[in-house]
Amino acid sequence: MFIKPDYNLKSIYDINLDELKVKGIKALLFDLDSTLMGSRTGCYTEKTLKWLENVKKDFFVGVVSNNNNPLYIEKVTSCTDFPIVFRAHKPDTRVTKEFMKKNGLTPQTTCFVGDRPLTDVLCGKNLGCTTILVDSITADIEKPVVRFVRWLERCSVKKS
Ligand SMILES: [Mg+2]
Repeated sequence: MFIKPDYNLKSIYDINLDELKVKGIKALLFDLDSTLMGSRTGCYTEKTLKWLENVKKDFFVGVVSNNNNPLYIEKVTSCTDFPIVFRAHKPDTRVTKEFMKKNGLTPQTTCFVGDRPLTDVLCGKNLGCTTILVDSITADIEKPVVRFVRWLERCSVKKS
């Protein structure tokens, strides 16, 4: 099975917000770990926070995470000022669908952004959202074994 995200980018900073606006996108839903912050770090960098502030000027911003560690959830929630849902069980769509409904989002106007083709992109696609695959935000410091697993997973991504 091949997965084809609408956009395949190096990082969140490469997202063309103007283009999304023109396409009618009003909401950006992000995966958390390795997309908005280093895996299990529990905090956004200054650079990411600044970028998100800019995104929030024109888009609804939300986070959908599969993380289910209570302490981690508490830590992230305390430093996040936009809606966030944990234990999402992506690629299953039920939790995300509820989250979208609660926040008045429709698939036609929502773009799903994440670093994992088989969880984030698949979930977004199954919901009918626009999808963006990004490389891990900490790709440059990840261990070879992690990079190898990522490479394997990306064999599922259709190149063009
Ligand atoms: Mg992730």
